[in-house]
Amino acid sequence: MTTPAILWFRRDLRLADNPALVTAAATGPVIPLFVIDPVFFATAGHARQAFLVEGLRALGRSIGGRLVVRHGDPAVVVPALAAETGARLVVAADDYGPYGTRRDAAVAGALADSGCALTFVGSPYAVPPGTVVKADGSPYAVFTPFRRAWEQAGWDGPVDVPDVEWRGDPDVTCEGYPTVPRPAATLPPAGEQAASDAMEAFLDGPVDGYASSRDLPAIEGTSRLSPYLRFGMIHPRQVLARLADEPDHATFRSELCWREFYADVLHRRPETAWAPLRPELAGLVVDTDGAARERFAAWCGGETGYPIVDAGMRQLLAIGWMHNRVRMITASFLVKDLHLPWQWGARHFMRHLVDGDLASNNHGWQWAAGTGTDAAPYFRVFNPVLQGERFDPDGAYVRRWVPELAGVADRDVHQPWRSGRGQPLGYPGPMVDHGVERAEALARFAAATRAPR
Ligand code: FAD
Repeated sequence: MTTPAILWFRRDLRLADNPALVTAAATGPVIPLFVIDPVFFATAGHARQAFLVEGLRALGRSIGGRLVVRHGDPAVVVPALAAETGARLVVAADDYGPYGTRRDAAVAGALADSGCALTFVGSPYAVPPGTVVKADGSPYAVFTPFRRAWEQAGWDGPVDVPDVEWRGDPDVTCEGYPTVPRPAATLPPAGEQAASDAMEAFLDGPVDGYASSRDLPAIEGTSRLSPYLRFGMIHPRQVLARLADEPDHATFRSELCWREFYADVLHRRPETAWAPLRPELAGLVVDTDGAARERFAAWCGGETGYPIVDAGMRQLLAIGWMHNRVRMITASFLVKDLHLPWQWGARHFMRHLVDGDLASNNHGWQWAAGTGTDAAPYFRVFNPVLQGERFDPDGAYVRRWVPELAGVADRDVHQPWRSGRGQPLGYPGPMVDHGVERAEALARFAAATRAPR
């Protein structure tokens, strides 16, 4: 009898365009495995946990209920399953994150002790991190030249679903799906079919006009594919293959590239998950005392008194997602108006975002904080009133998430304290003066960059 191979699903919860599945199926029967790793699971927050479990259920259904779900340290769980089933090969898509890299080395070592190989085929990216380099072999530090080189590097077309002889639950003990508390947030449907539906809906309409509508948080102008890309319910290759050679599609392709750029940066500089990419800003003075904690609580709860900031923070809690423009505004506000460590905000986002991804999130935060890859770094300070007026001109977005603003006229909706009719009932006044805090932020950044090292 042919020995089975284990297909270890991680960030690739799909059957279509899954090169690891193609490789595993070519060797014989396939045992599909997902490991609930407490290191990832416990830090995910209920919204992301619930989305993951729904995605696993969908994957399990698509392979006739055979998905084997086990809980624990993968360096113990994967070799144990290989020993039980006689598998000599484990196939997985490569993981380039700091923890994933360490985990995979530990699993490969433990498997080798029992004569089983761990092979990586594919990755969650169109172009694997570490591949795009300058002519002299050095990495790109800035996005635009990276994008040009990334497009030149190119990617293969999607691969078909192979014929697979699945061998899993009930032949193999399965510990079952974890129980997750019902999240407070309303989540999108999970799974490969839902991902494909979301892509089709986007390509059927919003992609036309994307270059301008992607910045307007009141409308459905973006793809909402991020949770699906996060868990590999769809691969970027599948999306890229559907894009044409026209300006709106090019802008969308470029956004997909940001995800690849940040994965590349984090892969090369794993310490930048939580430390500044620009080391000269390590000495930036931030506030961490009791008053800072109170300011942080107001920001988390959407009670800063700045409507666009509060709408974003409330949207995050309500649906586990926030519009990109508003992610930038809320992040800038935390760092440059409240003078708090960007890591506090990044942790809060990671807890609540369904699409929470270490590379995109923490480097998105570093971009906003001025400590990362932004080519116009710390002197970019978003004015939350002007940003609101520009990107949500009639206030439809802020009124949706901050109902206290329902009766405020359009012209005052981003600065209700100016209406002359008093604060809207139940809505706080602005917790800081933006002009004053902007000057303070610039002074702190200037001092940090001047400080001797
Ligand atoms: P679309 O506009 O439809 O874009 C399509 C895809 O391109 C996205 O799904 C995403 O995969 C990618 N993309 C777009 N913009 C970016 C970007 N700036 N950086 C990286 N990838 C991008 N994205 C995450 O997937 N996970 C995160 O944890 C995350 N945290 C962020 C934190 C901050 C402070 C900021 C400023 C941005 C963050 N982003 C994150 C990037 C971006 O906000 C989301 O990818 C986007 O809002 C998802 O919505 P969408 O799928 O409708 O995007």
